[in-house]
Amino acid sequence: MMKLVILGTGTAIPRIERNSSAYLVMTKGLNILVDAGPAVVRRLLEKGFDVDDIDVVIITHFHVDHTADLPTFFFACNYGKVAREKPLTIIGGRGITRFYGGLRNVYPWIEPKTYDLTVKPLVNQSQVYNGITITTAPVKHNPESIAVRLDEKRSLTFSGDTDFSQNLIRLADRSDLLVAECAFPERKVKGHLNLEALDKIVQKAMPKRVLLTHLYPEWDTYKGVLHAPYLLAEDGMEIDI
Ligand SMILES: [Zn+2]
Ligand SMILES: [Zn+2]
Repeated sequence: MMKLVILGTGTAIPRIERNSSAYLVMTKGLNILVDAGPAVVRRLLEKGFDVDDIDVVIITHFHVDHTADLPTFFFACNYGKVAREKPLTIIGGRGITRFYGGLRNVYPWIEPKTYDLTVKPLVNQSQVYNGITITTAPVKHNPESIAVRLDEKRSLTFSGDTDFSQNLIRLADRSDLLVAECAFPERKVKGHLNLEALDKIVQKAMPKRVLLTHLYPEWDTYKGVLHAPYLLAEDGMEIDI
């Protein structure tokens, strides 16, 4: 059984109601954090989790609203209540190793002191961790952008930030849940989805449920009605997959 905890459903725009997009996936053998934008470490605390509870961090791309709390995360692993001993894996798209190296250059104090860190690029590949298969595919946003699929008995796909993407259609095929960015309900902005573009993906991938996230304030005044399989995400939501 996988459980999804929504740590944030927002964007680069700082808002009280919507933290930058991030998610915690809990499985029997593994806790996975998907994206680590501003205040995500604190959001984990609010849900009763510490950085030490996370086994794998997946970074969908390097924009600040998806990565700013990574140094906070690493720093807490070294200087938290107890120094971390459990191994940590960071998965990302092309350039994740260079990106981590850049963070380490400006923040030398994040270099792991007491635990093993693996920084792993994963593009168009699968990797199995404790019974969870993690598969990624490049999507259309930044050169390093990936969508991520997690398979155990059930399947959960994260679009990451993306425009319309054939790779996402293939990756999300018949997922039990697709967590999809839908930055704007109606306006189409390059590099992001609106409802119309997302619907073209959903018609082909046929996920059982679709959770809309990465929501700009235009959603506050949207007057349309969402029908199944769509559901609008809220910060703090918890969903059994
Ligand atoms: Zn974003
Ligand atoms: Zn982005």
